Amino acid sequence: MEPEKYCLERSCMTLGLGLTRKCNLSCPMCYYRQKLFSSPYNSADKFIIDNINKNLDEVCGEVSSCELELSKLVTILSEIKKVGTILLGLEGEPLCHSEFLKIVEICSHYSDKQIVVTNGLLLSRNHIEQFNRYNVTTVILSCDADNKETYEQLRRGGNFIKFCRNAKLSARLFNGETMIHTVIHSGNTEVVEKMPVLAHNLGITRISLAQLRENSWSEKHGLRRADEVHLVDCLTKMIRNAEYYGIKIIFDNFFAFGEQLINIKNIFSDYSNILLKPFSRCPYPWLFSSILSDGRIFPCCGDIKPFAIDSYNFESVFNSPEHRYLKKVWSGDEKLPEVCINCMIGK
Ligand code: SF4
Repeated sequence: MEPEKYCLERSCMTLGLGLTRKCNLSCPMCYYRQKLFSSPYNSADKFIIDNINKNLDEVCGEVSSCELELSKLVTILSEIKKVGTILLGLEGEPLCHSEFLKIVEICSHYSDKQIVVTNGLLLSRNHIEQFNRYNVTTVILSCDADNKETYEQLRRGGNFIKFCRNAKLSARLFNGETMIHTVIHSGNTEVVEKMPVLAHNLGITRISLAQLRENSWSEKHGLRRADEVHLVDCLTKMIRNAEYYGIKIIFDNFFAFGEQLINIKNIFSDYSNILLKPFSRCPYPWLFSSILSDGRIFPCCGDIKPFAIDSYNFESVFNSPEHRYLKKVWSGDEKLPEVCINCMIGK
């Protein structure tokens, strides 16, 4: 069978949903604030950035048109029919969607499980009860520092005390797994070693790690990928701490590639608390697609310009021409395109 055709099993597929471009924060490393995502919502972005200190109601009130409408969501999901996993957490903060609780219920009819990725600052008992009622299995909390000062520099508009309170609540009340997701970059190599201590204090037992995917927005704020020396140093201390506190460390698929990956694997080969799965080919074109809040398809979470489609049937969403192109590239000897190189090593 043609490589670009196989593996279209619904139960293997993850559909990412961007529910809204609204966010209660304005983080300097946010991937979704770069030019790639230019859309009719640009003015809203500016509004959010100019108003990070205002309260959420004011911010959300002004930009309410940036949401995926419920009727559109239902149309999309009923055309796709069913997938293995729905991931709520691209673009803005999913909990900023005015009908987020209803969305969790709707998505439960079209998926085996759901994963919610959030900055955690708006998370409440209500949300957690809804997750327990429906098929949410994992809550991933974005957090890149163990202390108030650095956290609030990197999560602009955030509040560390509130984050900790909500993370503890999720660890205690949510029946599925609560994880921390940390993005390492030049702005936090000095502090990530303590993330396992923070996780332990919050009652959380897993941390997933990614490296910054450099983009025009992070560049504007002077953030870069960590250099190798600082990266290895902070990982060494972090993994040692994680072992002591019984915290599992999961490396994102793209954490490292080529020589850097080999180095990291060799350095940490004695540790059993880490999960680092090198890939021989990128799995995303076969397993993932996402739909942004304006209805455009964003095929595999690489730097591919989102595009509109006429019909949201399963084949169009998961096997678009862009998906087929990427499957072909990763199945053959062709040189990898720049988007894939950017994705893996952040050049
Ligand atoms: S851009 Fe390339 S490397 Fe990145 S997720 Fe897509 S296929 Fe994979």
